[in-house]
Amino acid sequence: MKSYEHKSDYLVVGTGIAGLSFAIHAAAYGTVTIVTKKKNYVSNTNYAQGGIASVLSSNDSVELHIEDTFKAGVTHCNPEAVNILVKNGPERINELISWGVNFSFEEDEKGNRQLELGREGGHSKNRIVHAKDYTGQEVERALIDKISSIDAITFFEDYTAIDLLTEHQLGQDKDSGIRTCYGAYVLENETGDVHTFLSHNTLIASGGVGSVYLHTTNPYIATGDGIAMAFRAGAEIADMEFMQFHPTSFYDRNDRTGIALLVSEAVRGEGAVLINHQGERFMKGVHELEELAPRDIVARAIDKELKKSGKECVFLDISFKESSFIKERFPNIFKGCLERGIDITKEPIPVVPAAHYLCGGVVTDLYGRTSIKNLYASGESACTGVHGANRLASNSLLEALVFSYRAAEHSKTAKSDRKNELPEFPRWNKEGTFDLEEWVLIQHNVEEIQRTMWDYVGIVRSNLRLERALRRINFLEEEIIDYYKRRRVWRRLVELRNLVTIARLIINGATTRKESRGLHYNTDYPELDDNYAKAIFQNNLGKIELKKVENVDFEQDLK
Ligand SMILES: Cc1cc2nc3c(=O)[nH]c(=O)nc-3n(C[C@H](O)[C@H](O)[C@H](O)COP(=O)(O)OP(=O)(O)OC[C@H]3O[C@@H](n4cnc5c(N)ncnc54)[C@H](O)[C@@H]3O)c2cc1C
Repeated sequence: MKSYEHKSDYLVVGTGIAGLSFAIHAAAYGTVTIVTKKKNYVSNTNYAQGGIASVLSSNDSVELHIEDTFKAGVTHCNPEAVNILVKNGPERINELISWGVNFSFEEDEKGNRQLELGREGGHSKNRIVHAKDYTGQEVERALIDKISSIDAITFFEDYTAIDLLTEHQLGQDKDSGIRTCYGAYVLENETGDVHTFLSHNTLIASGGVGSVYLHTTNPYIATGDGIAMAFRAGAEIADMEFMQFHPTSFYDRNDRTGIALLVSEAVRGEGAVLINHQGERFMKGVHELEELAPRDIVARAIDKELKKSGKECVFLDISFKESSFIKERFPNIFKGCLERGIDITKEPIPVVPAAHYLCGGVVTDLYGRTSIKNLYASGESACTGVHGANRLASNSLLEALVFSYRAAEHSKTAKSDRKNELPEFPRWNKEGTFDLEEWVLIQHNVEEIQRTMWDYVGIVRSNLRLERALRRINFLEEEIIDYYKRRRVWRRLVELRNLVTIARLIINGATTRKESRGLHYNTDYPELDDNYAKAIFQNNLGKIELKKVENVDFEQDLK
């Protein structure tokens, strides 16, 4: 099989909630190609347990959801983006229901059927729409089903996007002004051929970066490919220092995969308490919401408890609840823990924090547009400004839905551009060698990156640790890029190159921020510094604002 050229109106990189929901909407305006580097359901979305936050109950309000989001984000959130997120939530949830997502329902006192709304950390009201504790899996299933009935969408499974196509590959480097994206070079994993996927609009929906850390709740697709690709193409990237460590992942001494089972926030929402090896609750006195405090606070409290005790884990206890309730409400977690030797209806669960969610990414405006023309980003790869310095639980699936929709709707205003011919790009140069030792070398480099990031750029940082991390990552990056240039491209090598770039972007973000805020905690600057933070924030998001297109006619409907 030879390399070929493939053209469509839209190219979507990724089949999580951001990519799939965008594709469904975009298909109304043109042909859509979706590439995904493994099977279509392998995504962070598929792992989401807790649910989707939205104001759907009469005793809740838009103002409260906005306030909770801001509190968690430590005033670093973009107010306009948060406003849009919260106000558009109910419409997007109803749309999911109309697409066949089976959320959990209950009956109210009068016997009326209504959505069962859960509670999670940082939320002042019950507002988490969920499908038991496998919400992401159910959403992913329904979106894939829906897509299979849409003729305008073509799927390419086992295809890895390598690099974006811009003026750069045409030898027309633009040092100033806006670049344009025309699609991507895409690797067919099975054959090793690299194809040219041309498109008028491209969406980065390739998810997060958890695999850059030694312990993570993310599956091994979360290698930050889209963010690294966009960065190489010259897009603005921001807030990479705000990596959320989920406080409670199952601690399994024997696990060698590095992918930890998540024990959802919803378990604490149902009353589970955190205890140390003496059985003492240590969240009392740390925060008024105790176990339901925002994740950064809970993760740091656990980190402190571990450092104080020298133990490897703490415990989360829900065993005092009715066994039947636990099994019904948390079937997935119950099963997962039992497989690892813990019956959560009878004993506390050993837990540790693990890298979970990236708040930063490719900077976008309120329509998902990046600083590169015709390139959109959504979901965990994007930095819309919604999460600020710390994501409020269950706001991420919602963010993906709301901003993918807005991006697709915005793209129709650019429909006239599609009359223009797409440029001719040079075919990928397939030269380079491949040898059998490759896998070992790559795995070794991946582990070095993960260990460095875990030890020096984790929950608690310091100038000294960041300097050490940067020295090591710079060295590794040089070595990896050199290796990459000489070898034939394959998926693990593409991911390794991206991982090292992501590591550097996180360290750069962490080094630049001379304060502690939300998820970023540096012992050399333990305080908040509002003046400093404002300057950085405006510097990042301000650049995008300048490029805002006037007179977007659907704006009124969307607000
Ligand atoms: C265990 C767990 C529990 C969570 N629980 C919740 C929750 O309850 N509520 C909530 O709001 N959020 C939750 N989150 C976060 C949320 O699931 C993610 O932020 C969200 O699903 C991200 O969606 P996405 O579409 O941006 O990316 P993903 O769902 O990660 O999808 C990314 C896609 O891109 C593909 N891809 C990546 N690189 C390439 C490439 N180079 N070429 C081609 N394809 C590529 C991947 O294969 C994948 O299909 C949870 C996350 C985890 C890990």
